[in-house]
Amino acid sequence: MFLARRPHTARLLFSPRRTASTQSQPLRSLRTTAKWASTAVLASVVGVLGVGTVIFVHDAFTYQDRHVNRVPVSPLALHPERGGPKNLPIVHVQVDDDQDEENKRLTEKPRLVIVGGGWGAMGVLRKLRPGDYHVTVISTDTFNTFTPLLPSAAVGTVQVRSLIEPIRKIIARLRGHFIQGKASDVVINDQLLEVQIVTDGRHEHIYVPYDKLVVAVGSTSSTHGVPGLENCYQLKTISDAQAIRRRVMDNFELASLPTTSPEERKRLLSFVICGGGPTGVETAAEIHDFCQEDIFNYFPKILREEVSIHLIQSREHILNTYSEEISKYAEKKFQRGNIDVITSARVIAVTPTSVLCSIRNPDTKVMEQHTIPTNFVLWSTGIAMNPFTQRLCDILPNQVHRKAVETDAYLRVKGAPKGTIYAIGDCATIETSAVDHFMELVEECDKNKDGKIDFEEFEDMVQKIQLKIPMAESHLSKVRELFQLYDSDADQSLSLNELMVLLQELGRKITALPATAQVAAQQGKYVGSLFTRLARHKTEFETTKIPQSQQDEATSKPFKYSHLGSLAYIGNSAVFDFGKFSLMGGLAAMYAWRSIYWNEQVSSRTRSMLMIDWIVRGIWGRDLSRL
Ligand SMILES: Cc1cc2nc3c(=O)[nH]c(=O)nc-3n(C[C@H](O)[C@H](O)[C@H](O)COP(=O)(O)OP(=O)(O)OC[C@H]3O[C@@H](n4cnc5c(N)ncnc54)[C@H](O)[C@@H]3O)c2cc1C
Repeated sequence: MFLARRPHTARLLFSPRRTASTQSQPLRSLRTTAKWASTAVLASVVGVLGVGTVIFVHDAFTYQDRHVNRVPVSPLALHPERGGPKNLPIVHVQVDDDQDEENKRLTEKPRLVIVGGGWGAMGVLRKLRPGDYHVTVISTDTFNTFTPLLPSAAVGTVQVRSLIEPIRKIIARLRGHFIQGKASDVVINDQLLEVQIVTDGRHEHIYVPYDKLVVAVGSTSSTHGVPGLENCYQLKTISDAQAIRRRVMDNFELASLPTTSPEERKRLLSFVICGGGPTGVETAAEIHDFCQEDIFNYFPKILREEVSIHLIQSREHILNTYSEEISKYAEKKFQRGNIDVITSARVIAVTPTSVLCSIRNPDTKVMEQHTIPTNFVLWSTGIAMNPFTQRLCDILPNQVHRKAVETDAYLRVKGAPKGTIYAIGDCATIETSAVDHFMELVEECDKNKDGKIDFEEFEDMVQKIQLKIPMAESHLSKVRELFQLYDSDADQSLSLNELMVLLQELGRKITALPATAQVAAQQGKYVGSLFTRLARHKTEFETTKIPQSQQDEATSKPFKYSHLGSLAYIGNSAVFDFGKFSLMGGLAAMYAWRSIYWNEQVSSRTRSMLMIDWIVRGIWGRDLSRL
């Protein structure tokens, strides 16, 4: 068959038609190229003209001189009356309350005051319906910060402006009001929030009245009593990220000077991160990436040999709240990148030039003291109570938690009149102990009043506990087994002592929710939806005369957290812990990590800016200027 075809092939090869076509090939290619090039040029011109026209039309209709004459403002807004226990100005009327009909209508609605402008507050605002409440947000910062990308901002992988969104823009949908200030106290009986504001450099205090108050002030960093923390950086806010970036750049510039001694250069190039949780790990990874991808390309080569990154962790592994598999993966990745992971170590003190720590010798198991010379220390070892939260706990009864204000299952602050103060996010913790409800539970469930709880009564009690402490649900699934386990005298009933032991041990088994954006956002959304439902049922409550203290139960179920997984960036790769399974990987995982955070942005503006930042970094690298 092959032989039979040969003459035909030969004819084709030497036919005059084939020769002509071969000769015209370059010409044809040229013509095709010219055709595509002219199409591309034409398309670009049309595109540029199109975009230009859109921008022109947008500008023509956007930038107009708006003359506003005689804006109605209540005299009470400009000269608030004084009152309350400290005789401070009380903001009964806001400056923009009377400016139009819609704002005026809102003054008749319940006054909802939200303290804080972080993840929790954003969750509430997202779920509120316009027109239901007279909303006021009080925050120390005028913007919301996307905290998970602060480590990236600290080395310039993304710009700080890409992580913030002005609160005024976020509350515009609800026609809300904003006061930049610091909540400092609450007068529970008069429902007044005391706020410290700064005017002309002077601190003044005002009262803001509320019908409902949401406390979402976040947390501060825990110190663990370590001396010298004033020599450390923190990474909680935008200004922290800016300060870190400046110090990191300063260190590299100083280390490059000819007058810098070798020892001093080593110290300047030594970066110490205390805390092996997600923030510490991500910051170490970002500093490492910054060195590898940018610093080493533009700074003297000698720096390459002398840069050191030390990550100090008190536990045996970094990322210890993630699965062991993830911790080990991250540790190996850091080892390969020459990041010095120091586990089972405790920081003893921080000085302006070094970190003193004790590290357990893996062979002798003895703690040995080490000094790490450094000019940069990040302190990221957990959270502590915000001063305002502390004040709230001080004035309320039975608030004894060390790190947060305790709430019930509806996120209402315990000890405050029900339905008035709610707390969400890092500053709050949901009660985990049913012991506080002991008497109430016995009263409700001991139907025959014999001072004992039989199995039938216990079944009823379990349901009531689940409503009060939803996090206990998984520990109460095997009711019969539980009953028999604590019925130590096997008399088919639980004495009050046996019941008390059961409730105490149950409380110990429940772990509090972590202080994460995920928890804060879910709690915020829960409270926002709860308030929306309350507003919807307002007339119903008035006719049925359901008191405020019972309205939450009447409209909603208790808050239930659903864990969507934890993720962390570990340097051009990322790890995902979904509880039942984990994912670890390189660039693909990093893109998944980025997509998740990109999707979580509060506005399309920050979404666009983030995308631009990542593209700019990919093409031109990080900005090395020290501003
Ligand atoms: C660097 C970093 C990375 C993180 N990464 C992740 C992550 O990847 N995933 C995750 O789930 N969580 C992450 N977290 C944790 C997460 O940011 C917090 O759990 C979350 O911000 C808590 O939300 P919040 O609303 O309670 O408080 P915040 O978001 O901290 O907001 C508190 C707000 O209250 C304001 N405020 C404080 N005090 C007062 C006052 N007295 N009066 C008025 N306003 C006040 C502040 O200005 C701020 O606006 C990270 C945290 C940090 C610092």
